[in-house]
Amino acid sequence: KSKATGRNALHFFDPAMQTVVIERAALEVGLRRAIEGQQLVLHYQAQVVGDGQVMGAEALVRWQHPERGMISPAEFIPLAEETGLILPLGEWVLDTVCSQLASWAAQTGMAHLTVAVNVSAQQFRDSDFVHKVLAILNKRGANPSRLKLELTESLLVDNVEDIIEKMFALKAKGVGFALDDFGTGYSSLSYLKRLPLDQLKIDQSFVRDILVDPNDAAIARTVVALAQSLGLGVIAEGVETEAQRALLASSGCHVYQGYFFSRPLPLASFEEFVRRG
Ligand code: C2E
Ligand code: MG
Ligand code: MG
Ligand code: MG
Repeated sequence: KSKATGRNALHFFDPAMQTVVIERAALEVGLRRAIEGQQLVLHYQAQVVGDGQVMGAEALVRWQHPERGMISPAEFIPLAEETGLILPLGEWVLDTVCSQLASWAAQTGMAHLTVAVNVSAQQFRDSDFVHKVLAILNKRGANPSRLKLELTESLLVDNVEDIIEKMFALKAKGVGFALDDFGTGYSSLSYLKRLPLDQLKIDQSFVRDILVDPNDAAIARTVVALAQSLGLGVIAEGVETEAQRALLASSGCHVYQGYFFSRPLPLASFEEFVRRG
């Protein structure tokens, strides 16, 4: 696009590129509508403690597209981030989770559940983020200590003082924090020590080949040791087999999430999974 031609005179010389741009624009319009129009849905994936007890879930968003069917977050979260739609989307997720927490608080066998919510760096960067989270918790009557926010290391390129301040403000109300996909991103152990985290989440890329790749097994053991020495909990994601679970257990990790226990499930199926025990 040449600047001199102005905004209304886009010139595409590559038809394939033009198709990509048009599809993307359609997806953006669609996503905007989806956020406003009840096409987003949350699935809940169990987080399980050693003996098999479900301690909570991670909320994972899906887009039920009227023509294309279920679209995975891997496809639309990056678009939401590029377009700023991650802010209203993230608020919808938090609001839905807080309503759910309030509902479970009144149900036998469900009141203990915690829910982990993925928070994009861009969302956390919002100067109003702390206020928004507290307002939603308050509006829905949810217990802040049942809410856990999953941050990623990508956040640490920002002003770390600001991040720490926001985390402490939410932590003071009882909100918990996990560091998602740990070990895959920009890590600084000196920052790690200063963040008021509750849990490190061993990334599934280390769990996948843990039985055959001694490096992955060593990384998992190291993350567990690091968590222990910092006084943090640790959870492994992407646990697909009993053998992976057993190796993680022998490495000192006793909280798990993965297909071996349960896939991410629609609300009713997740509730049934918890009740079956
Ligand atoms: P994540 O937070 O690391 O979530 C874990 C992903 O691993 C989920 O993919 C989950 O379905 C998948 N998974 C869980 N257990 C297993 C397993 O045993 N094996 C394998 N192979 N995969 C497993 P999903 O649901 O497609 O979500 C992908 C990513 O999208 C998430 O990665 C997260 O970064 C992002 N995401 C999802 N929901 C939200 C949201 O509400 N807000 C934001 N900002 N990001 C979200
Ligand atoms: Mg996550
Ligand atoms: Mg993860
Ligand atoms: Mg991951």
